[in-house]
Amino acid sequence: MINIGCHLSASAGYMNMLEESLSINANTFQFFTRNPRGGKAKDIDENDVRKFIDKWNELDYGKILAHAPYTLNMCSADERTRQFAYEVFEDDMKRMEYVPNNLYNFHPGSHVGQGVEVGIELISQTLNNVLFEDMTTTVLLETMAGKGSEVGSKFEELREIIDRVELNDKLGVCLDTCHVFDAGYDIVNDLDGVLQKFDDIIGLDRIKAIHLNDSKNAFASHKDRHEKLGEGNIGIEALLRVVNHEKLCNLPFLLETPNDLEGYKKEIEIIRKGSK
Ligand code: FE
Ligand code: FE
Ligand code: ZN
Repeated sequence: MINIGCHLSASAGYMNMLEESLSINANTFQFFTRNPRGGKAKDIDENDVRKFIDKWNELDYGKILAHAPYTLNMCSADERTRQFAYEVFEDDMKRMEYVPNNLYNFHPGSHVGQGVEVGIELISQTLNNVLFEDMTTTVLLETMAGKGSEVGSKFEELREIIDRVELNDKLGVCLDTCHVFDAGYDIVNDLDGVLQKFDDIIGLDRIKAIHLNDSKNAFASHKDRHEKLGEGNIGIEALLRVVNHEKLCNLPFLLETPNDLEGYKKEIEIIRKGSK
């Protein structure tokens, strides 16, 4: 069975997210480790985590994906912002070990005019400072749309970061369908070509999760506005080709479309019907 789920609110804990996911026929989910704008994370409720892991083990359920706050920018020009990114990331790595062997996704960052090279170097430095030998979490670099000075809209940039990180066996990539389309990778007309390129530059085995989104904007727009599945410029057929691709079909698929729970439930149904 395909692993599909959506972004859920973490405010009521892990068990609540698990139950909410089951109510919409999902078997994975994504959540923010803390307020998306940053700030302090709630204390881990160990009782809640224990119950979650027990239940998770009983189910045919995929890995879950934690998402770092959007404000986390490892390659900011501002020292304080970089320090904040480091502290949040370090704290999140500790918190992730309460739910071992799962995935943690972050936006590589925006170099804000310092140049891609400087950005890549600052990101790699922080990763080298926070990753540790016996961690069980896989940290995912998200493919970005290339809005503003975002790093990570080209596969080569992600490759560069991975190459500079010592413990890069802890690193993977989360491929966001809206972002790669907006970045200029034509997953609508040439999915195989895009995946071949990814394989040549990074290696397909690095992809550990897919953000399944349609795009409000045109191909190569560098905009990053998600749309409901089938209502954007990628379209349902192309998205189903992603879901059914033999190299991708066993990954967790996470919806980040503009929806409430009812809307997510419908999209999950569409994907389950359309998946082999
Ligand atoms: Fe994201
Ligand atoms: Fe995403
Ligand atoms: Zn996005």
